[in-house]
Amino acid sequence: MKVDNRIELVKGDITKLEVDAVVNAANKSLKGGGGVDGAIHRAAGPILHEQCMMIINKMGGELPVGEAAITQAGNMPCKYVIHTVGPIWRGGNKGEDRFLIKAYRSSLQLAVDFGLKTVAFPNISTGIYGFPKDKAAEIAVNEVNRFLSENNFIEKVIFCCFEDDNYELYRNLIESK
Ligand code: ADP
Repeated sequence: MKVDNRIELVKGDITKLEVDAVVNAANKSLKGGGGVDGAIHRAAGPILHEQCMMIINKMGGELPVGEAAITQAGNMPCKYVIHTVGPIWRGGNKGEDRFLIKAYRSSLQLAVDFGLKTVAFPNISTGIYGFPKDKAAEIAVNEVNRFLSENNFIEKVIFCCFEDDNYELYRNLIESK
C-alpha cells in the first residue's frame, strides 16, 4: 500500500479517536501534566496513572527523552496509549530534532511490536515544550513517511491537530508530498 493512503489528518481531541493506539506527549515522570497529557489521563481514568507508575518503577525513575512505553487506555475508545517523551526546545542546538525524530520512531516501533495497526499522534513537543510548530510538523511528517515506507505493518497513522495553525501546517506538508 502506498504511504499516501496510510496517513490521515484530523482536527480535534485525540482522546476521542477509535484507533489501536493514541500517542501521548508525556513528560519523563509519566505523572501526567497539562495539555494533551492531562487530557489523556483524565479521559482514561486512574488506571493510566497506575500503569505509568509501574513503568517508571521498572525504568528506575524516568522514561528518557525520545523513548516510548505502552499502557492500556482505560475509559478511552482506543485500545492502548503509547507514552513518549518529546524534547523541550532549548534553542535548537541541544539535539532537539534528533530527539523528536526518535520519539516518533520509538512510538511507531512499539506499535509494531504490539501488533497495533492504527496509531494517532498529537503534535509532540509543540505545546508547553515550545518546539517551533513548522519544524516539528516537518519532522513528524518526514519521519512517519520514512517509517511507513520501510514497514508495511502499520495501516494508518493519524495526525491529530488540536490547533488551527498546526492543522494548516500539516495540511500543506501532506498535500505537497
Ligand atoms: P508538549 O509538552 O509535548 O509540548 P502539550 O500537550 O503541551 O505537549 O502540546 C502538544 C500538542 O498537543 C499541542 O499542539 C496541543 O495543542 C495539543 N493538544 C492539547 N490537548 C489536546 C487534545 N485533547 N488532543 C489533541 N491534541 C491536544
